[in-house]
Order: sequence, then C-alpha cells, then structure tokens
Amino acid sequence: MDIEALRRDTPGTANRIHLNNAGAALLSRRTLDAMTGHLELEAAIGGYEAAGQERDRVDATYANIARLVGGRPDEVALFDNSTRAWNAAFYSMTFKPGDRILTGRAEYGSNVLAYLQVARRTGAEVVVVPNDASGQLDTAALANLIDDRTKLVGVSHVPTSGGLVNPAAEIGRITRAAGVPFLLDATQSVGQFPVDVAEIGCDMLTATGRKFLRGPRGTGFLWVRPEALDHLEPYVNEIAASTWDGDRGFTWHDGARRFETWEVSYASVLGLSAAVEQALEIGMDPIGQRAIELGTALRDRLDAVPGVTTYDLGREKCAIVTAKVDAMPAEDVAAALAARGINVTTTDPTQTQFDAEDRGVHPLVRLSPHYYNTEAEIDRAVEAFAELAGAR
Ligand SMILES: *Cc1c(COP(=O)(O)O)cnc(C)c1O
Repeated sequence: MDIEALRRDTPGTANRIHLNNAGAALLSRRTLDAMTGHLELEAAIGGYEAAGQERDRVDATYANIARLVGGRPDEVALFDNSTRAWNAAFYSMTFKPGDRILTGRAEYGSNVLAYLQVARRTGAEVVVVPNDASGQLDTAALANLIDDRTKLVGVSHVPTSGGLVNPAAEIGRITRAAGVPFLLDATQSVGQFPVDVAEIGCDMLTATGRKFLRGPRGTGFLWVRPEALDHLEPYVNEIAASTWDGDRGFTWHDGARRFETWEVSYASVLGLSAAVEQALEIGMDPIGQRAIELGTALRDRLDAVPGVTTYDLGREKCAIVTAKVDAMPAEDVAAALAARGINVTTTDPTQTQFDAEDRGVHPLVRLSPHYYNTEAEIDRAVEAFAELAGAR
C-alpha cells in the first residue's frame, strides 16, 4: 500500500488528522470526481439524460457492492443510509404476539427503537442476549435462548460506541442451524475489514457509504439472501419495487431491487461505486490489516499513558478506539483535540443504553483511524492525550 500516494489522493489529509472514520471517512479525489463529474453532466445535459448516459456505471455499483460482500448483484438494494436499508429488511418481516426478536447489548440505537416499536405494535418480545466475560455477545447464551418463538436474530457486527467485533460467523452458524433469520448490521465493519456474507452466514446485511467505506454521505445498501426474500414482504410498494399488472394487481421485481425507491441521487450512487471500487482495488485484506494495526497501536499506546484509560470490549477488537482522560469530560477532550486539528467524536450514552447500563462509562472519546492515516498521526493523538492528562 502506497500510503503517501493514497493520501495525496485524499484532499482532507492535508488539513486534519482525521480519526473519525467511524463517523464519516475522508473522500478520495476519485470519489469526489465521480460525484462532481455526474453533477456537471446533469447540469449540462439534464438529469434523466445523464442517468441514461451513465446507466452502465450505475448498474456496476451493484456488481461492485456484491463483490465487496461476496454476494450477487441482484441481491443488493441501494438506499440513502444504512438505517433505511436496515428498516427495509426489518419492517418487511411479520411478527405476532409471543414472537421473539433476539439482539445483543451492543445493538445500534435506531435498531433497538425499531424493535421496541414493532414489539409494542405486534406483541412480539425483544430479548437481549447477554455478553460473555470478554464483552462480546455470548454465543452459548444465544444458542440456549433460540427456540420456536425466535423469529429474528438482529446484531450489530461492530457497535458505534467501541472497538468490539461481535462473533458474526459464530452467530451465523447458530442461526443457520436453527433456521432463524439473521439480520447483521455491518455499518461499522464493511469497508473497515473483510466482511463476507457466505462466511458469516447472515440472511440480511446492511451498511453505509460514508463510514469506513469512504463513500459519500447519504448512501447505504442492503444485501439479502435470495431465500430470505420468501419471508419478506417489502413494507412499501412503489413503481421501483414492482410491476403494476393492471386490475390483476402487481408483481414484485426480482431480487433485492423490490426494496428500492425510484428516485435516487445518481451523483451519490456513482460516488459510492467509486469508493467501493477503490476499496476492492486496494484490497479489503490489506485495508483491514492496516486499519486494525493502527487502531491496536493507538489503543495500546493510550493505555500506557498515565491518567488515560481505554474501554474497548471483546475478544476481537477493530480500528475503533474508545478512551477517556480520567479527570476530564470526554466532550472537553474532543474539543481540545479539535483545537489541535485532530478529528474525533464522543459516544452518546442515550444511543447505547444497554452498554451504558452495563458499564456506566459513556460518553467516551471515540477515535477511529483508517488505513490512510499514518503512524505519525497516531503519535500526535497520543501526545495530545498525554498533554491533557498531564495538564489536569
Ligand atoms: C452509523 C451506524 C448505523 C446507522 O448508519 P446510517 O448510515 O447513519 O443510517 C447503524 N448501525 C451502526 C452500528 C452504526 O454505527
């Protein structure tokens, strides 16, 4: 990996030490050009005409995403974020009183809110699987909890609030053996390290463009295993989802496209496609290796600073690092880092309430390097923490 060349292709690296790739990564010049090029084309010849001219490149987006996650192009649907992609899968399932939805203690806030709404509406029950001693989802407990009532297992692969990597493939083995649908929220893992739907054995997977994939804001996708389509009735119908057969009714489109809406931002779609293509070219193996290496180095070095503690759970950890200066509120640390040109964010206890209950440590400072960050940038972040810890 030619880090210097990749950084020259990433305008933002000249301005900031960007350790907020779990929030939104920096766009590459290539992704930016794909988007601005399409906007220029729309302005020059018309929006419909531009989409027509770029039809092949738009279609290639599905093939690129399919290659990225190990599926087929017709198993992919595009959305404007990961939440809507997830909603398209989740709200297309049917639940009745007594049905159970199993999730984990690291589940994303919006997913939990959706479970709670559907539980309130249908009489289904939300059951939260405990963590094991390492802080990852306890797969033995999951296997014990699964029974006839279990209609869905929904898990976040990597949470928004820390470096935990949940044992997705082990969960997949359990759900497949039990014949229970497995909805994997892979928003923080896709683009960060290799994620393969066959290896994991999930039935539905959702991801966003802007985070570790380095795509534009306002993009996301859903992957659905073809067999799972039999159990999903898309929760909205519209002209992009089905064919209107006159008075005879309608027929859903083949594959995952039945979940899509007709109107999309083609500039954003082409930006997402360019970002995915670039990730594939660089290779998800080296990307994951370097991102996790930088995250691990950052975590280990922060831990070695007196007055600084890190809080990441799990047996397997990723590039997301959560930390605290012991005597300083996380928001103040984040602001002090911003003043030094270092982009980070803080975790929100209201959005990760299971984990907030378990540990009471949020808000934490969240630092999330990616492969295009440098060791020197990691040094700067550690030095800044050391200064802040010493200054108190
Ligand atoms: C960010 C995030 C989401 C939501 O993604 P959007 O693209 O903002 O809708 C879902 N799950 C996890 C784990 C996330 O970190």
